[in-house]
Amino acid sequence: MRPATLHRRPLASPRGPAKARRGHGTPHLSKTRFTSGLQCHRLLWWTVNEPTAPELETSAELEAVFDQGARVGELARTYIPGGELIDLPYSDMEGRVDATRAAIAAGERVIYEAAFRANGVFVSVDILHRTPRATGWTLTEVKSTTKVKTAHIPDAAVQTHVLRRVGLPVVRTELMHLNRACRHPDLSNLFTRADVSEEVATFLPEVPGEVNAQLTMLGRSTPPAVTTGRHCTSPYECPFLARCHGVEPSAPLDGEVVIRPGLRDALAELQAPVAHLDFETINPAIPVWPGCRPYDQIPVQFSVHVEPARRGGETRHFEWLAERADDPRPALARALVRALRGAGSIVVYSQPFEEGRLRELQEAVPDLAEELQSIIDRLFDLLPVMRAHVRHPGFEGHFSLKNVAPALVPHLRYDEMEIGDGGTASRTLEAMLLGPRLKAAENQRTRRALLSYCQQDTRATMGVLAWLRELA
Ligand code: SF4
Repeated sequence: MRPATLHRRPLASPRGPAKARRGHGTPHLSKTRFTSGLQCHRLLWWTVNEPTAPELETSAELEAVFDQGARVGELARTYIPGGELIDLPYSDMEGRVDATRAAIAAGERVIYEAAFRANGVFVSVDILHRTPRATGWTLTEVKSTTKVKTAHIPDAAVQTHVLRRVGLPVVRTELMHLNRACRHPDLSNLFTRADVSEEVATFLPEVPGEVNAQLTMLGRSTPPAVTTGRHCTSPYECPFLARCHGVEPSAPLDGEVVIRPGLRDALAELQAPVAHLDFETINPAIPVWPGCRPYDQIPVQFSVHVEPARRGGETRHFEWLAERADDPRPALARALVRALRGAGSIVVYSQPFEEGRLRELQEAVPDLAEELQSIIDRLFDLLPVMRAHVRHPGFEGHFSLKNVAPALVPHLRYDEMEIGDGGTASRTLEAMLLGPRLKAAENQRTRRALLSYCQQDTRATMGVLAWLRELA
């Protein structure tokens, strides 16, 4: 098997329509365009006719999803091995169709990225393989999700439709997705192959009519009129929401701060010295450390602030950030136990997240299970306190720490930070720890930005708690 070439197009994305945002503007359908059109003809028209629209620019976060999908797609091939990869540029459709035809004629049993075109629809199949007795072909679509979703069926169906149109006997259509039951290091069951032939057969009669309707619509010079509705956000959020819905006015910033009764009692539970804890995590699709499953949230960084036990004392800060590639959990757990030894209540913002990670750490580092349980027992969740007792116009209706902290403590801003939100932090951490090695200077700069971001979160809970104490 020739080595895989990583095209810019994702091989296995959980969000089908995102792929269409890289369209070529040529008047044909692809499996991604077809599924976009199923969601909304207007969305498809803009996607094809305005491929450079600002709404279609991919964010760094989406790029990371694409790259992850590409890695999953490439790995999936090794589970149906020994195939021929149609390794030509994505835009060379004719070349890819010809190469596929030649591979089939040469008797290849497995073909990756096999390309076909029929009736204005071009598709490339993640993995196409002959059935054991060579009575026909199995079409395998790879998804980086952990289960089959309803939205996957039209994607598989349009491929089945095209292959049958060119005379290929497809006898089975399957979706190959990640298996949450798989645990590193045994990756033999990383993928599940689900037979969706029946679901595809049910949908297939709709395909020719929908293909014709979409191609006719794309031939027009103006976008079709479509009323907004549930389809604007389902199965995927449409990038053109603002165009069709108009920009929603932001919540007014005037209005009163309302403090509801019981705040003093809620805060009375806090035991000094109060500590503040925040984890940053990564959730790789392909597990890399012992016991981990696909998409497990692994803590790889923490920040702890410990307030002084009495007035006039000093706040102490502890932080920890994983080094590249090693399993970070034992060292992180040790550092965390050290940092929180002697602390009273441990403030977090949304306890289920931190508690969940701590319970997983107990499993991963059983020697420290007792100490980690003691941390769990001391957790104090600030989020329900805020929800129950505070209304503030500056929150703009949201209680996330990124909304609450800057409204209450103006110097606690995130918008000017190099890394200013959890999604970016997670993506950066995953790239730094598991992606290609960064140059030393870049690595240092990235680590500084990550440390600064995580520290800002525990500063934020300290600031919010101080504001609440003043009122209480
Ligand atoms: S916002 Fe709704 S109506 Fe407008 S293009 Fe998107 S899906 Fe279609």
